[in-house]
Amino acid sequence: MAVALLAAAVPTPAYVRSTTEAGQPARGLCLYWGARQVRFVVNATSATPAPCGSAAAATTLTAASFPAWSPACTDFGFVNGGTTAVTAVANDGTNLVVFRSGLCQAAGCSGNACASTHNCWDHDAMGTIALTTTTFVASTGQILDADMEIHGWNGLSRPQATGSYLTCATPSSPPCTAIPYGQTGCNFTDVGNVVTHEAGHMLGLEHTCVASYPAPYNYCPNAPDGTTMDPTMQPGETRKRVLTADDVAGVCAIYPLNAATVTCSSPSSSSGCGTAGGGTGSLGLLALGFLILRRRSSRRA
Ligand SMILES: [Zn+2]
Repeated sequence: MAVALLAAAVPTPAYVRSTTEAGQPARGLCLYWGARQVRFVVNATSATPAPCGSAAAATTLTAASFPAWSPACTDFGFVNGGTTAVTAVANDGTNLVVFRSGLCQAAGCSGNACASTHNCWDHDAMGTIALTTTTFVASTGQILDADMEIHGWNGLSRPQATGSYLTCATPSSPPCTAIPYGQTGCNFTDVGNVVTHEAGHMLGLEHTCVASYPAPYNYCPNAPDGTTMDPTMQPGETRKRVLTADDVAGVCAIYPLNAATVTCSSPSSSSGCGTAGGGTGSLGLLALGFLILRRRSSRRA
């Protein structure tokens, strides 16, 4: 009993490093960048309507979200490379943040080329707000390229509306009402919340273990709630803009200040996580009214 009480008093690290085995954090090699400075560019101008009602506002909040990942215990940092008109998710050395609008299905095509040409969302139509695609060297885990797609509103009313109603209000602003389209000055799907989370994927973190969620999001039994790398968000939520101690521990475990980048082949030793499940949890989470943030990874030999 004394042992159990002691264990409860000490926060259990819950961060999980991404590995070369997608969705299997206990297998494969940990992902990492070889450099401590990672440049990103933002395309908020190709989506219609503009995210947050203003491409400039979306760009500004996006850029302002990356520095959260540079706490004092690391010299890792994202570098703002400015804006771009690029829409292609590709292993091209450009780490892209692109706001999409409209389903590729509605454009009559599918696949990466379709998404680039129409700046459309080529992933699941419901639930997933954003997706980060990471390209890495399979034999080492070194990341070569990371691109973030964010699925914004297509401008139509229900039931034709697709995508998330993205907002760029301040955290102290009130939540938008349940059907938020066209509202301003309120929080619904906060761009800061989304980008800070996805930036964690870009640097090499997997979702935090959350015991109460269905597999594969319940890797760890003792995870704290509300981390930036928690895979779900509620409408109006902005708290992921600010890292929790566990998120800070995660980035600093990979890129410790003035010390070599930590690679690993048994990545979950700090988290106590087991293996991940099959990835069929999204429908269950949707039924609970959650929104989901997701990552995927692509392999590069
Ligand atoms: Zn995620």
